[in-house]
Amino acid sequence: MLLAHRIRLAPTPAQRDYFVRAAGTARRVWNWALAEWNRQVAAGIKPNAMALKRQFNSIKYSDPDWQDADGQPWLRTIHRDAHAQPFANLAKAWTHYFKQRRTGQHAHRPRFKKKGHCRDAFYLANDKFRLEEMVAVLSKVGRVQLCEHLRWPGKIIGASVGRCADHWYLSVQVDVPDHVAHFRRMDDGVTGVDLGVSAAATLSNGEKITAPRPLAAALRRLRIRSRRLSRKLETAKATAGIKGQIPKGTRLPVSKNRTCGTRALARLHARIARVRADFMHKLTTRLCRENQAVVIEDLNVRGILANARLARAISDIGFYEFRRQLQYKAVRYGTQLVLADRWYPSSKLCSACGAKYSALGLGERVWACTTCDALHDRDVNAAINLQRLATGVLATQSALPVASSAVTPGTAAGNGPAGGGKVTSARHEHGQQDGSGQEENGVHLCPPS
Ligand SMILES: [Zn+2]
Repeated sequence: MLLAHRIRLAPTPAQRDYFVRAAGTARRVWNWALAEWNRQVAAGIKPNAMALKRQFNSIKYSDPDWQDADGQPWLRTIHRDAHAQPFANLAKAWTHYFKQRRTGQHAHRPRFKKKGHCRDAFYLANDKFRLEEMVAVLSKVGRVQLCEHLRWPGKIIGASVGRCADHWYLSVQVDVPDHVAHFRRMDDGVTGVDLGVSAAATLSNGEKITAPRPLAAALRRLRIRSRRLSRKLETAKATAGIKGQIPKGTRLPVSKNRTCGTRALARLHARIARVRADFMHKLTTRLCRENQAVVIEDLNVRGILANARLARAISDIGFYEFRRQLQYKAVRYGTQLVLADRWYPSSKLCSACGAKYSALGLGERVWACTTCDALHDRDVNAAINLQRLATGVLATQSALPVASSAVTPGTAAGNGPAGGGKVTSARHEHGQQDGSGQEENGVHLCPPS
């Protein structure tokens, strides 16, 4: 299976300078290709990435736009992978855009990349570099020191060099043999996971896992650094004599002070991202390692993010990333990932008797079932309902040993009606939903990606 390893680089100042120029080249070529693509569409020509690349190759050494002050074509100093790959990327971006449009998803066209506002990265084809223990040998750059060695054996598919705050990283994509990539599971539990705001994740055994909330902890510092930076921006605007909105296409004078401020803010953002990633990886690994099936809700993240009050907490935890990691780790551990339909009322069903409590409000952390008087913690109840969904699905599939033996001893469902040998089908679970017409696609097993 394809796995990627991102390794921090320790480049010399000259190598760092090359990286900056190569990433800048990749950005500029992308912008050239996109502008040309748009121009051809406007002129009624059907653009094609390969043709665009040929067109670019014919001008890249002769066009004055691509020559430095001495009239020398500076592209000769950058490896060609850096300026060939943007064409392939652009073709991919358009294909993706049209596919999203066809399937009725929210889509936006490929955008121009702005210096300082886009990811600085460039591509390396697998035959243009090699790894020797703690050194990467890149063409036109030479030997670059790595901070750790490549984790995976296998065939290297490709790599890219990218910047994150102050550091440069080499991301290597490796086709890892299955016997290396696949792990043994340590347990055969079935766990429902409810993602939330008060606790990042609540498991169906009642365990609540709180996120380190890096954003909340660093928020004060973030506010200070952002304010400092915006003051510097105001100064730059005043120097340039601009009042109000900065007109499109203007370049503000860049002071050393402002560059430092930008860097400090970027470093803090990068640190927050690292803390978040660490927490997320540990949680998703643990879930896949200990369970034969994990059930999560297929959340309508875009819808929730539209709610400003919830937005920060949710984007801090990172639902998309959570699901993406579970998806690929489930393959590695042979765990079945089950996605509950976003209309499945996991919070509103009573996990003891199955009655639906429609009047449940967003703020009700604890509620009592009106039918059987059971008192429920909102998140734990939802997680148990999700877990029951899995036992039902697994039983109808009969691919995995389920029923009572599958339920981890001591879990709440193990004591409840769903765990004790009687397995309700997913279909039946859904029958309790009021006719929203969603019964058919109530739950789906996540295909191995
Ligand atoms: Zn009840």
